[in-house]
Amino acid sequence: MATVILKAGKEKSVLLHHPWIFSGAIREVRGRVDPGDIVKVADKTGNILASGFYNPASPIPVRLFWWGNQPVPPSYFETTFQNALTERALLGSDPQTNAYRVVFSESDFLPGLIVDRYADYLVIQTLNPGMERMKSEIVGMLLSLLHPRGIIERNDSDIRKIEGLPVRKGLLAGKGFPEFIEIRENGLRFLTDPNLGQKTGFYLDQRENRAIIARYAEGKSVLDAFSYTGGFSVHVAKGKAKRITRIDTSQEALDMGARNLLLNHFDDIPDEPIRGNVFQVLRKFRDMGRQFDLSILDPPKLAPTRAHRGRATRGYKDINLLALKLTRPGGILATFSCSGGIDASTFERILSWAAKDAGREVQILHRLTQGPDHPVLLSFPEAVYLKGLLCRVL
Ligand code: SAH
Repeated sequence: MATVILKAGKEKSVLLHHPWIFSGAIREVRGRVDPGDIVKVADKTGNILASGFYNPASPIPVRLFWWGNQPVPPSYFETTFQNALTERALLGSDPQTNAYRVVFSESDFLPGLIVDRYADYLVIQTLNPGMERMKSEIVGMLLSLLHPRGIIERNDSDIRKIEGLPVRKGLLAGKGFPEFIEIRENGLRFLTDPNLGQKTGFYLDQRENRAIIARYAEGKSVLDAFSYTGGFSVHVAKGKAKRITRIDTSQEALDMGARNLLLNHFDDIPDEPIRGNVFQVLRKFRDMGRQFDLSILDPPKLAPTRAHRGRATRGYKDINLLALKLTRPGGILATFSCSGGIDASTFERILSWAAKDAGREVQILHRLTQGPDHPVLLSFPEAVYLKGLLCRVL
């Protein structure tokens, strides 16, 4: 097994159990190594500190998952997998919800592996060559531990391209790729399309936030901007919203949102689906003098990394300024950022600039984040990506 030797001082983050080693931290690689191999990592004097997957093509060539000088035990993946499942037992036994994240990559000590449960199906992503090589073993473990009807791979993420892996989608186990999978979330029914969206078909990370926002919806006119398949819309409908305006660029997502409202018998609530760019539609609404009691902004990642921060900051400020203007005095704004490159305090600062320009006072009622099926290790705060503020707009 090859050994990656770190530059002096670069062992500190490893000792704190941070799982990433950037290329700039590596002094040399001793021994023959292929992408996807497990390597040992040593400090400059040769003390073995940890082990992880190696990929020279990645800006993060080593992703650690095992600390100490002992070799990775042969049962590591099975045991770690079992632990991740045990941690989700609470969710797994909730009759109201049958869609959640089962494995969340580094946070579950399985770097590059995402496993999402959608009722009887599992959707997985293997996002580095080490995990890619483990794929058939992982499929075998999932089949024997969870007995799904099928396992789907959604390996079309951009991360795969950065890691030098081909993109692909398809069925890994079971018969027939399902066109739709019906799931339950907070007691509500949703049709999900395992082919749709940036993730694995549904934004599972917003489950708890959807339930919180629903509590503010009674009698309200709701703006659901970046509505996708209606995750928030269906919840505010359950919360007795008066009417709903949904905006998305994807007609497919809007249509599925309508089906989801219907599936839950909310077809008596006036629903205004608008296919368009939120940035433009909100401007038009402002010019028309339209007002909403409850506005929701859940844009896609505007800053995937810190390098995109400047442009993303302008984007967030722009839509939040518009949404504040469109929210009636005393109304509610729920605004989100799922950009890894923008942290919670930056996001709050952007909202404060928008509030100042809109001439509005804003009270934060809830600070929101991803659900407990997307846990965050203290040693790896980078796993926090979803930030949300539920505010009263005065
Ligand atoms: N709120 C949703 C998830 C939103 S995902 C939920 O709870 O399920 C982001 C959505 O924004 C996607 O559906 C995508 O089609 C849409 N989108 C991306 N850019 C957009 C833009 N400029 N205007 C409108 N919609 C956009």
